[in-house]
Amino acid sequence: MSPYWSPLVHQLAPYVPGEQPKLAQLVKLNTNENPYPPSPRVREAIEAELGADAARLRLYPDPTASALREGIARLHGLAADQVFVGNGSDEVLAHAFMALLNHRDAAGAPRPLLFPDITYSFYPTYCRLYGITPQTVPLDAQLRIDVDALIAAARACDAGGVIFPNPNAPTGCGIARAAVERLLAALPDRVVVVDEAYVDFGADSAIPLIAAHPNLLVVHTLSKSRSLAGLRVGFALGQAGLIEALVRVKDSFNSYPLDRLALVGAQAALEDAAWFEQTRNAVIAARTQLSADLAALGFEVLPSQANFVFARHPAHRGAALQQALRERAVIVRHFSRPERIADHLRITVGTPAECAALVEALRQILG
Ligand SMILES: *Cc1c(COP(=O)(O)O)cnc(C)c1O
Repeated sequence: MSPYWSPLVHQLAPYVPGEQPKLAQLVKLNTNENPYPPSPRVREAIEAELGADAARLRLYPDPTASALREGIARLHGLAADQVFVGNGSDEVLAHAFMALLNHRDAAGAPRPLLFPDITYSFYPTYCRLYGITPQTVPLDAQLRIDVDALIAAARACDAGGVIFPNPNAPTGCGIARAAVERLLAALPDRVVVVDEAYVDFGADSAIPLIAAHPNLLVVHTLSKSRSLAGLRVGFALGQAGLIEALVRVKDSFNSYPLDRLALVGAQAALEDAAWFEQTRNAVIAARTQLSADLAALGFEVLPSQANFVFARHPAHRGAALQQALRERAVIVRHFSRPERIADHLRITVGTPAECAALVEALRQILG
């Protein structure tokens, strides 16, 4: 704390990312990074952009990222003005909160933003930053997103918008496209943001709904299924009117969120369909094996459509298991709040060898 701070800074509740330990030799299954490297074309593209003397780095990158946006549009059967790119999907989400989810009613009272009670913990952080009132809607008894409860709550509190991940984080459970469509159709006057950070690992994407639903914004990242968490590239897809709002915020904040290396590296990754298929299929196969191995050890494992599993052991506290794993050089994520998930561990799907090391450590811990 310092007397120099702007008043808002005192109100912030910053997001706490999973640990990035300095020690090598750890089995790192705590931040949902992809265990496989990105397409080799990423390195080639970045080296070509750098050239022998990196002279191009003298020049600002394309502020509109037009080549990358056109590539993303082609991939998804959209037009370039239906694509927004940002420095990681977290930045894209931040702009969406400011541009599309911060509303007031006719009397000037804030309209709340709805999201599930157990979800990506950056959402309440952005609410604090932008002065948005959050309102949470409980997951159902199986820890799944309850679309009917979201619709009812949105009407009851005159919500200014709705946001949720599909599949949800940290549970890994997805909802069907038909359920998303029902929500969009029920709430045509509000923006619905579907954060599809993990969708490539087996969930239904809402992208085919964009054409018929002007209130839908779909957010993707290259951090998970494209193995590029370190390059920081995310994007949003929606009708041009929503995208224009994001561009207006971005151009009031930072004209060049993606640097030259990120622009070409992202494009190369998106073009390598074969690498994408091969690595995501490996992750999906490892997830099936890991889920079965955990169940055999007595864990209750939620059905995952993501690159992580969410599991609890009925006889062990989550915090104790996390600590015991750490002592065996295996790092997983544990959330002590809310209470309902305090005994769950969120375990990133690693390589088969990493998953086997985790399972072996758990076998020792459980005795
Ligand atoms: C990982 C993640 C993101 C953010 O990813 P970036 O690395 O910022 O692109 C967004 N939403 C959810 C639900 C995530 O898990």
